[in-house]
Amino acid sequence: MQNAKPHAALLASPGMGHLIPVLELGKRLVTYHGFHVTLFVVATDVSTTQSLLEEPYPNLNVVNLPLVDISGLIDPTATIVTKIIVMMRETLPSLRSAILALKSPPTALIVDLFGTEAFAVAEELNMLKYVFDTSTAWFLAITIYVPTIDKSVEDEHIIQKQPLRIPGCKSVPFDDTLGAFLDRNDQTFIEFKRIGIEMPMADGILMNTWEDLEPTTIGALRDFQMLGRVAKVPVYPIGPLARPVGPSVPRNHVLNWLQKQPNESVIYVSFGSGGTLSSDQMTELAWGLELSKQRFIWVVRPPIDNDASGAFFNLADGSEGAQKFLPEGFLARTREVGLVVPMWAPQVEILAHPSTGGFLSHCGWNSTLESIINGVPMIAWPLYAEQNMNAAMLTEELGVAVRPKTSASERVVSRAEIEMLVRKIMEDEEGFEIRKRVKELKYSGEKALRSKGGSSYNSLSQIAKHCEHSLHFQKAKAQGA
Ligand code: UDP
Repeated sequence: MQNAKPHAALLASPGMGHLIPVLELGKRLVTYHGFHVTLFVVATDVSTTQSLLEEPYPNLNVVNLPLVDISGLIDPTATIVTKIIVMMRETLPSLRSAILALKSPPTALIVDLFGTEAFAVAEELNMLKYVFDTSTAWFLAITIYVPTIDKSVEDEHIIQKQPLRIPGCKSVPFDDTLGAFLDRNDQTFIEFKRIGIEMPMADGILMNTWEDLEPTTIGALRDFQMLGRVAKVPVYPIGPLARPVGPSVPRNHVLNWLQKQPNESVIYVSFGSGGTLSSDQMTELAWGLELSKQRFIWVVRPPIDNDASGAFFNLADGSEGAQKFLPEGFLARTREVGLVVPMWAPQVEILAHPSTGGFLSHCGWNSTLESIINGVPMIAWPLYAEQNMNAAMLTEELGVAVRPKTSASERVVSRAEIEMLVRKIMEDEEGFEIRKRVKELKYSGEKALRSKGGSSYNSLSQIAKHCEHSLHFQKAKAQGA
């Protein structure tokens, strides 16, 4: 038994937001728990994906599953979440064949949120099955709770816009609710409920959070009197898992520029791998940054009205010319203090740099964790999916961010408000506590991952043990013992 090395198959759905934490989980299973890992990737943007995976990692093999054509299966106006879900569903036959083609059969299948339909493959092939919620415990709580509520409670939240009360957890105000709830006729809503039913069928749910970050919600997920009665499945907070600063990242002009700026003087502005702004909002943001008189790096994409996730599958488009949508003279006037980067920037390296002192973020969970583990305070600017919930948690619960008075997805945030928010986190006395608090959280996250007694390390060790037992059991069975 001692020599047995479990083999885990990991499945990552499209989008850097899923691939990055699943890849980091794979690395941790290999490095700290002696696993072999095969990572199956369903990627739409091969070039950006390749940049993540270019360095070989011992005992971690990456298999790209063939891209499927879903154009005939969905409405062209379907949400990004629906597109990903349908893509994952259509990929299942090739996942099954690819697992069967592996030399050593995996002991466990670990999928992200959008891969729960692959549990059927795991069951057929006698594998343990886990789901990795790459977001918060609070998001997991709402996901598994919603399928159990009756129609009147659902109506209360979605139609009457009352807060959704989740046993043992913070309620979700309607203004911060999930994107999936905004249109009950949309397929996303139905799929979201299905996922909420399937997740607790796993042998365990991993979460990219840690005990000290969300103690109350994690407690409720485990407590039978509270939310635990809904999801009778063990939960394992294993985070914060975030992409480390890459040794191979070439020193590009962005990092060279950053190097010349004073300590904690630069605000980094970026909306994740797919976020886009409307043209009016882009104009206001440009003015707000300029008026704040702070140094900045801004990842700029061509504006798209009425589609905040417009670049999700189209990162290659528009790399030229995004800047032409900025107010006239903006680039010349801010040349001394600002840097505009088209489409994509080395975010982790920027956030880890000592010159960076703030982050205006769409609050995708990876970006959030990257900010926290580098002790960088945020302006929360959610756009879609569960980002409003993340923004609420960062501002009202954790105290590491400020946000506009009403959500940026509801209206155009004015230049004056942006100027005020930027100043607040970067230099105002009022932002002192926020800057202090995020540094405390940075330390708390580091502690959770320590291999001697860290809570997240211990959580993943428990999963490793289950896999080792299962492997041992299967071997014994095969030998007729
Ligand atoms: N990212 C990056 N450069 C960019 C934009 C995004 O490296 O210009 C990375 C970022 O560091 C993060 C991921 O892409 O790891 C985005 O994930 P997140 O969960 O924040 O948001 P999503 O893209 O899923 O909305």
